[in-house]
Amino acid sequence: MTATQVMPGAPPDPFTFDNTYAEQLSGFGAPWEPTEVATPTLVTVNTDLATSLGLDPEALSEAHAVRIFAGAASPEHAAPIAQVYAGHQFGNFSPQLGDGRAVLLGEIVDPAGRRVDIALKGSGRTPFSRGGDGKATLGPVLREYLMGEAMHALGVPTTRALAVVTTGELVRRDGLLPGAVLTRVAASHLRVGTFQFFSARSDIDRLRRLVDYAIERHDPAAAAADNPTVALLDGVVRRQAALIAQWMNLGFIHGVLNTDNVTVSGETIDYGPCSFMDHYDPTTVYSSIDHGGRYAYGNQPTIGLWNMARLAEALLPVIDDEQERAVELATAALDRYQGEFDAAWLAGMRAKLGLDGTHDDDRALATDWYALLATDRVDMTTAFRRLADAADGDSAALTDLFDGDVDEWLERWNQRVAPDAGRGMGAVNPMYIPRNHLVEHALDSAVQGDLSPFDELLDAVTHPYEMRPGSERFAAPAPDGFSAGYQTFCGT
Ligand code: AMP
Ligand code: MG
Repeated sequence: MTATQVMPGAPPDPFTFDNTYAEQLSGFGAPWEPTEVATPTLVTVNTDLATSLGLDPEALSEAHAVRIFAGAASPEHAAPIAQVYAGHQFGNFSPQLGDGRAVLLGEIVDPAGRRVDIALKGSGRTPFSRGGDGKATLGPVLREYLMGEAMHALGVPTTRALAVVTTGELVRRDGLLPGAVLTRVAASHLRVGTFQFFSARSDIDRLRRLVDYAIERHDPAAAAADNPTVALLDGVVRRQAALIAQWMNLGFIHGVLNTDNVTVSGETIDYGPCSFMDHYDPTTVYSSIDHGGRYAYGNQPTIGLWNMARLAEALLPVIDDEQERAVELATAALDRYQGEFDAAWLAGMRAKLGLDGTHDDDRALATDWYALLATDRVDMTTAFRRLADAADGDSAALTDLFDGDVDEWLERWNQRVAPDAGRGMGAVNPMYIPRNHLVEHALDSAVQGDLSPFDELLDAVTHPYEMRPGSERFAAPAPDGFSAGYQTFCGT
């Protein structure tokens, strides 16, 4: 019997792959083979995401699919590969990173015609694993699931998790932890580091093919531009600036903004030591490995530009044969970053503050608000919600948050706030975010075998704006003292 014949009773294949990356870009990764795992067990399937992708959530829960999700079987017609890439890690260039614990199973096209990657994370060693075991553990995998779903519900472009399985094996980290694999859906896994890999090796032919591929997938209009490569760079710059502006307005800290963790699609990717800030402080760093605070909350806009500069450098040979001209064009594209960021940030802040129209002083009003939060170390998420209540006429709960006097600022804001702004503000300022203390509790419980705190928190953060009776504890700031020594880990 041939490979394409289906045996009677054979499980249906959950995916219909259409693999442009593996087919068009040979030499951009290494073939990957599944490895048996002890007991592949489904933890959760993202029903909502599965349905939007045109996949049958029930088929995804069957044993055959669970084996695929565990990296123990390869779907039919898949051409799984570990993708290669380079990257600046904390400012230092690593010429070869690549998927060390991940694999691209393939691409599917959803009912809306949108092409997405289906990838595994934690599915075992690959040719790019270096010293690592290629594995992941349940806590970090669930963390990525939770954070991605929260960001999606908040309207932030993000990769999302389709499924989580455990492998039945123990993985050595800080002690022995349950092994798990995440199935990740992404607009693509093209990273700044993917371009850097080929550029650093002066493999201009492949670099050019990668540019063409990225244009077709993410910026089709760029193909008709005078300089398509610059148009692609412009697109990436615009998306990164807008993305980081959204993070800033939510208090999100990515934690490892290395160039291998920056997508061309503009989606947030690689939820490792990320977190949402509690009290407002631009110097906040939670990641245990970020000793110098390079990826502190307040540094993210600047780091975004730094990362775009690394992309621009990598693209130079394709932008123009004449280096001086290439540098000039790339620099002009980078010069647009700040304007894009400022515009996106201010538009976001106008909505969060409920301002009426636009005014020259709006930026000062927004930065002065943040200065007040910083001075009194006020919980950022709570402050915006109480400001929405103030728009409805009740400012007592807001002023209670501050030690100092906020009357003068409130007076200025009152001059600018739109009539009936409270409702609109309630629709852009979340009540429920994945607060660090709640995330830690949910993950600890899940690792001990009790998923209910995780499910409850997931339910709250995927309905971030809806005040729900009984969910007050999800809106409350961390207990006193929690944030002081709080650290997040890569979990690799
Ligand atoms: P990250 O900091 O998670 O973006 O990972 C940086 C690099 O380390 C990537 O190339 C990963 O594939 C690799 N890596 C992280 N954890 C592991 C692991 N447990 N085994 C092998 N490679 C890993
Ligand atoms: Mg990464």
